[in-house]
Amino acid sequence: MGRDEREGVVDEYGEVFNYPGLYVADGSVMLGPVGPYPSLTIAALANRFADRLLSEARSAAGSAPVIKRRTKSDMPEANRRLP
Ligand SMILES: Cc1cc2nc3c(=O)[nH]c(=O)nc-3n(C[C@H](O)[C@H](O)[C@H](O)COP(=O)(O)OP(=O)(O)OC[C@H]3O[C@@H](n4cnc5c(N)ncnc54)[C@H](O)[C@@H]3O)c2cc1C
Repeated sequence: MGRDEREGVVDEYGEVFNYPGLYVADGSVMLGPVGPYPSLTIAALANRFADRLLSEARSAAGSAPVIKRRTKSDMPEANRRLP
């Protein structure tokens, strides 16, 4: 998972960069070990990704706004490591 395709395969919602609609929702998207007992973290990520998928589906159906994708400009300056 990364902020763009130079940093990772998927974005913070599990969507594969440059493959709209293709999501990965499992432990493989985590950047590294999160400590012992990762299942809840993986489940929380999957839940977040599912929220995004549902919002996209509802938006496509015209019933709700899509969850806004964050961009680098939304991040604090200190967190923007890439040019
Ligand atoms: C022995 C052991 C004990 C553990 N104990 C704990 C614990 O106590 N607490 C804890 O928090 N974590 C524990 N973990 C870790 C935790 O189980 C894993 O980190 C977590 O299950 C990973 O979730 P996942 O969704 O990434 O992968 P998985 O749970 O492995 O799910 C992957 C799924 O994808 C399916 N799949 C694979 N290939 C394909 C394919 N080509 N097409 C379709 N489906 C496919 C598999 O059948 C599987 O259902 C333990 C792990 C092990 C091995």
